[in-house]
Amino acid sequence: MSEKISELPAFLKNTYILIGGWKENSLVDVLESVSFTLWTSRCNFKCPWCGNSKLARGLGERKVPIADIIRALERNLGFIDYFHVTGGEPTLQHEPLEAMFRYIAENLAVKNSLDTNGSNPHIVKRLAKYLDHVAVDVKAPLSQPDKYSRIVGLPLGATVEAIAKIRNCILFLCKKVPFLELRTTMVPEMLGIEDVVEIAKELRKLVENAEARVAFVVQQFIPYENILDPDFKSRPRTDPEMVKKAAEKVLEILQIDVYYRTLEDGVKKLH
Ligand code: SF4
Repeated sequence: MSEKISELPAFLKNTYILIGGWKENSLVDVLESVSFTLWTSRCNFKCPWCGNSKLARGLGERKVPIADIIRALERNLGFIDYFHVTGGEPTLQHEPLEAMFRYIAENLAVKNSLDTNGSNPHIVKRLAKYLDHVAVDVKAPLSQPDKYSRIVGLPLGATVEAIAKIRNCILFLCKKVPFLELRTTMVPEMLGIEDVVEIAKELRKLVENAEARVAFVVQQFIPYENILDPDFKSRPRTDPEMVKKAAEKVLEILQIDVYYRTLEDGVKKLH
């Protein structure tokens, strides 16, 4: 154990978090950056196409002291740009999350990053002062609760509430973090190019006075092994040309950085 590691304060050793695991060097979780990525367990959404559904349901989760995560992070400080937390939905465990982000912001030379479905803006507001980058999923047009409800697997009433919170979250983050990334996944038979265009039009109003750097990423659906609804396992991944075309249309609407992410091309920025 290094001298630095033995200096960790007691609150880190006595605070635990439920996780699926972590990856010490990831090239795919934060745009154009290397991250130490932590996957927290459990989610309040039930997206039928979720590729992390075991994690989202808490299956195979481990309860670990956050000191163990900080120790692993410290060993990688020279190789990474961000400490990135994704899930599941990280904001469901706000106390250990805040303790980690706060300790890192105050003590370590690495930036903090959060990936969220946007449904807990009150938690995001508490964390914002420690965050350098936040990715928010916009899973369907915000003006179409029926569609959003099908895509996130929640009843309509809960979805209407969630959408109001997601809007609130985006509006807040536009002003309060250096870098906001908005992400939409093109799920086959659920979300097509016209939906991505609709999302971009809706976002135009939300981000027009942003002080943050704002980027939009159109993502390909990939039928991973752990998908929640078996019906989605047999669906092909989204046509990469369609993903690119959707991103090109977004670029015509939003005056921000636009990217697309596919297995075939990796992450590409449009110019
Ligand atoms: S895809 Fe949906 S269910 Fe899966 S982790 Fe993200 S928000 Fe939760």
